[in-house]
Amino acid sequence: MRLLLLGAPGVGKGTQARKLVDTFNIPQISTGDMLREAIKKNSPLGIEAKTYMDDGRLVPDGLIISLVEERLKAGDAQKGFILDGFPRTLPQAEALENSLHKMQIKLDAVIDFNVPYKNLVERLANRLVCRSCGTVYNVVTHPPKKEKICDVCAGEIYQRSDDTREAIENRLKVYEHETAPLRNFYKSLGKLTYLNGERSEEQVYDDIMAIIRPPKK
Ligand code: AMP
Repeated sequence: MRLLLLGAPGVGKGTQARKLVDTFNIPQISTGDMLREAIKKNSPLGIEAKTYMDDGRLVPDGLIISLVEERLKAGDAQKGFILDGFPRTLPQAEALENSLHKMQIKLDAVIDFNVPYKNLVERLANRLVCRSCGTVYNVVTHPPKKEKICDVCAGEIYQRSDDTREAIENRLKVYEHETAPLRNFYKSLGKLTYLNGERSEEQVYDDIMAIIRPPKK
């Protein structure tokens, strides 16, 4: 199964990707997570990426494309993968198509998550994330049972440094300018499926399963 989850920051791509990892036993390839890992390690990529990420700007295409090309070659991605947060620009999407073509593989589906913008600002501004397992909480609607401790793995819960109002506004603008045009790109390839991201986590998951495993007639 090779899936691409498309949609603005905060629509729930990461949450659903983690569920799909468990279902299909294939890796989630999240460029945001990979970059945050690079920042934690203080690697040259991390040092460069941080300046862009903290302001809510995109990391340059060249860096991201080579990062993903390498990741797609790893052994665990040979059975399939879930792309989350990549591609985010047309050059990235074209580079991905090129890489897949060379590997003689194709995406099974591109799922376009939709949530109204005003709800996304609230979701992101109130978002807390577990540093260990990535479980997402919301200060208002879904707080952890114990403050700063993950219900699932007892890891530390934190607020991302780009989940500030200013960076959120920037990220949503960048999404509209740079990433939203990818809908047309994948529509023209006949791969895009609309998904309502406002339903409950379980309903969204069921909708995704219905898209990737259509009922037999
Ligand atoms: P995310 O965790 O997907 O919300 O990504 C967090 C931040 O990492 C973004 O706001 C960008 O600064 C950077 N980033 C993640 N993925 C990409 C990408 N595909 N292209 C450029 N920048 C990215």
